[in-house]
Amino acid sequence: MITPNHHYAELKDSYLFARIAQKVSDYQACHPDAHLLRMGIGDVSLPLCDAVIAALHQAVDDQADKDRFQGYLPECGAPFLREAIAAHYHTRGVELSPDEVFVSSGASDELGDILDLFDRSSAALVIEPAYPAYVDANVMAGRTIVHLPSSKGDGFLPEPSEETLADLIYLCSPNNPTGATFSRTQLQHWVDFANEHGSIILFDAAYEAFIEDPDLPHSIMEIEGAKTCAIEICSLSKTAGFTGTRLGYTVVPKALMRAGMSMNDMWVRNRTTKTNGVSYVIQRGGAAVFTSEGQRQIRENLRYYKENARILMQALDQAGIWYCGGRNAPYLWIECPDGMGGWEFFDYLLNEAQVVGTPGEGFGACGKGYFRFSTFGNREDTQEAARRLLDLLS
Ligand code: PLP
Repeated sequence: MITPNHHYAELKDSYLFARIAQKVSDYQACHPDAHLLRMGIGDVSLPLCDAVIAALHQAVDDQADKDRFQGYLPECGAPFLREAIAAHYHTRGVELSPDEVFVSSGASDELGDILDLFDRSSAALVIEPAYPAYVDANVMAGRTIVHLPSSKGDGFLPEPSEETLADLIYLCSPNNPTGATFSRTQLQHWVDFANEHGSIILFDAAYEAFIEDPDLPHSIMEIEGAKTCAIEICSLSKTAGFTGTRLGYTVVPKALMRAGMSMNDMWVRNRTTKTNGVSYVIQRGGAAVFTSEGQRQIRENLRYYKENARILMQALDQAGIWYCGGRNAPYLWIECPDGMGGWEFFDYLLNEAQVVGTPGEGFGACGKGYFRFSTFGNREDTQEAARRLLDLLS
């Protein structure tokens, strides 16, 4: 009989969202007329921008035309999209060759798949609170996880240290769930540390487009020495509303070598073996994001979410609640009032204000006592949630 991967039995139940859904449906059953405001959602609420929609339609028409029809594309991505992304990095002062850019179906897929490049005996460092997939993907592979708790004291942006040395280092900036964003100097410390110890940083830049502070880096590739120690995983999900359309990209620099092996060559080999790439239609839609019209239009959508963040931040400021995030990220990470735990605060908010968010415990033990609000909802709900929070907490 075949032996299953026994590491799946070591996974902790991902009960966070199931438990939230259960509590919300129980509340609704008892209060059918209550207007619940869902401020916990991690999905976008605005549709794709016009430039993307036009490109998608055009690409569908291409597929109906004998001369323009596209069959299989290169597995690592269509040249037109790899070039557009490399040109986008150029605008930030990062020089990449298009074959250092790999088109993907999104960051989640890549965060799991990229682990194929590393030996299963390697250890992975996860800074917590963290996006839960980092831990789970490594547990499935049987890797040792080194948990590095972060705190209000370090601004949820801890420094590297010898005590938490690991082969793989996950950095997510701007962070989900805390919204905290590494400065250039802080990232430089991680890059120097990784180069010194031969570790590899997996840099999750899913929320880079939300950065508005001009001094903060959008990409780890902006940091000196990053090309010899980092892989960057990006997504158009939150940047351009591709959560349901699915498109992302991953940067694997050619200079990234370990034990005489090129990570870029290995990833080419991996992709050409395990995927036939992303759909032509979707890649055309993605390329439209990198046109000047596309950039202008996605910035309008990002401004909408940023205004939501501003509305919530204003209410929290007035109520005297400590939080981080919001300015450079679509999440607000607040300290629960009166020493409440995240679940306790969840119940309090649901019962007293009919506002739903996400308890910090869902992102690691050190998230206890914190709570995440998302800014992806619609304006009216956000305004109403801000009013209710202010009434309840001030
Ligand atoms: N990384 C982080 C930190 C996320 O929060 C998310 C989605 O919420 C992802 C990756 C996954 O993004 P994608 O939709 O591209 O799979």
